Amino acid sequence: MESWKNYVSGVWQNSTKNETFEERNPADLNEVVGFFTSSNKEDVEMAIDSANSAFLSWSTLSALERANYLKGVLDLLKKERDSFSKVITLENGKTLKESLVEIDSAINEMEFQIHQGQRLYGTTIQTNKKLTMAMTIKVPLGVVAIITPWNFPLNVACRKMIPALMAGNTVILKPASLTSLTAVKFIELFDKVQIPRGVVNLILGSGSLIGEILTGSFKVNGISFTGSTEVGLSIQKNAARNLIPTQLELGGKNPVIVLKDADLEEASNAIMLGAFACSGQWCTSTSRVIVENEVASELVEILKLKVLKLKIGNGANKETEMGPVCGTKQLEIIKSYIDIGIQEGASLCCGGNQLIDADYKKGCFVAPTLFTNVTEKMKIASEEIFGPVLCVLSVDNFGEALTIANNVKYGLASSIFTNDFSKAMRFIQETKVGLTHVNMPSAYKEPMLPFGGVKMSGAGLPEAGTVGIDFFTKHKAVYIQYGH
Ligand code: NAP
Ligand code: MG
Repeated sequence: MESWKNYVSGVWQNSTKNETFEERNPADLNEVVGFFTSSNKEDVEMAIDSANSAFLSWSTLSALERANYLKGVLDLLKKERDSFSKVITLENGKTLKESLVEIDSAINEMEFQIHQGQRLYGTTIQTNKKLTMAMTIKVPLGVVAIITPWNFPLNVACRKMIPALMAGNTVILKPASLTSLTAVKFIELFDKVQIPRGVVNLILGSGSLIGEILTGSFKVNGISFTGSTEVGLSIQKNAARNLIPTQLELGGKNPVIVLKDADLEEASNAIMLGAFACSGQWCTSTSRVIVENEVASELVEILKLKVLKLKIGNGANKETEMGPVCGTKQLEIIKSYIDIGIQEGASLCCGGNQLIDADYKKGCFVAPTLFTNVTEKMKIASEEIFGPVLCVLSVDNFGEALTIANNVKYGLASSIFTNDFSKAMRFIQETKVGLTHVNMPSAYKEPMLPFGGVKMSGAGLPEAGTVGIDFFTKHKAVYIQYGH
């Protein structure tokens, strides 16, 4: 089988050492998705040089000229929506419907950022010198490294690459190894619109082998990363040696608070979506439900019925509602957290096992899992699991719920279900996250809004929304003296 290649200086090329790695379908591990070139130090350096050589000419194009290339990519993506959904499902495992949601969201992000990127405003400022004008202009950083995770292989790449390119930067994409094919297919679109050579580069291979070379280079001028907090921390340290700015979107332990006056049916639907869509592998997934005692058992009963009804299977089958988790490593992590939960004394309300009957044994399937009687100090209540495991904690009142919600190292997304205006308003003010909701799922977000966590969930300027381009630019202060 031929292997998929890197894209450097506008040419598809194997790594200089000709090594490859393989990717398998998480719904059926017997199925090889493809072989991919495994980059090394030399390949990364070539990509960095390629992006540097292309910078001057790309950054001096007009915003409209850059937009026209990206609109071409957008049109192709719209046309290839169905084939992209098959690729995402094949390598990530999410259902076809979830893949289409991801693609539509990527399309919306692209459309928004292509327009937003044509509004790179500066300011004029009064100066104390006469016959002199002062202003700021926004200029690109230069070469930007973009490192993406496997859970939203297309959307995260779009959300970062489009504003970076619109601002005039050149880009090196290093996708998650588990979802390399989506990245290859996405970069093919840039090749098809004949984006100038070196403006967009793709480097395939293991982050633990090549990540440090990419993020430790002084020829890279900005790093935008989405992934685990652990890797984010190591990137931050590495980049700091060259004072390279970083944008880090990291893990979460996102709570949904349900107060006793809430509409439990509505709350349960939002919790189901937040906890089990994409097999719980969203950074904004609901992983903790914090519910007032009076309605706790009623809510758990509703959730349990819904969890037991979920149809688990290969995401490529139309009737599947929850696919496998993404790979054997993730499967083992999730199983070990389920064991920890049981040892810690939480009650297993449903699920809690790997599915191994019939076709399930070919893939990475975990039963959607509901833990009750969970307490704040348990590991399952404080560490990110990143799988279909939901913990229910019951509390005496709103104040206790808020304290528990905030008392974790993460701060990405949250939600509250209540019709009590004053408690909802207090929650909005006091929840320590970057994205919050009232009577909505914890994961809901549109392209117009910014996205970025606090505490160990993120650092640097947020992504997306009207501020999504800010990370990829620098303010330059300018004086012009036109007389004496
Ligand atoms: P990960 O292990 O941190 O990997 C993310 C990316 O970093 C991958 O491309 C990975 O490459 C690469 N990488 C690994 N080690 C590296 C290093 N030393 N230097 C540079 N890059 C390196 O995370 P993951 O397992 O893909 O994704 C799951 C995590 O992502 C979860 O914790 C989740 O919360 C987080 N996430 C956060 C958001 C958000 O917006 N906040 C969104 C999605 C996911 P390889 O694949 O080759 O290892
Ligand atoms: Mg990893």
